[in-house]
Amino acid sequence: MTPHRHCIVCWTPIPLDRDPAICRADECAKINVKREASRKRFTVMLYLFPAIALVLAFLSAV
Ligand SMILES: [Zn+2]
Repeated sequence: MTPHRHCIVCWTPIPLDRDPAICRADECAKINVKREASRKRFTVMLYLFPAIALVLAFLSAV
């Protein structure tokens, strides 16, 4: 068995050097794009919410 990775959408074996880690299927490319977008949104929220909480804490302190 040769080293390989799997499509992150459908788990089809794909070459190790494939980037992004998806197979050739259009559907997987679409799903990957959607996932990337929601992951970015999640990362933004992760920083945004503590920032807002800090501002609110600061405002209520003054
Ligand atoms: Zn796939």
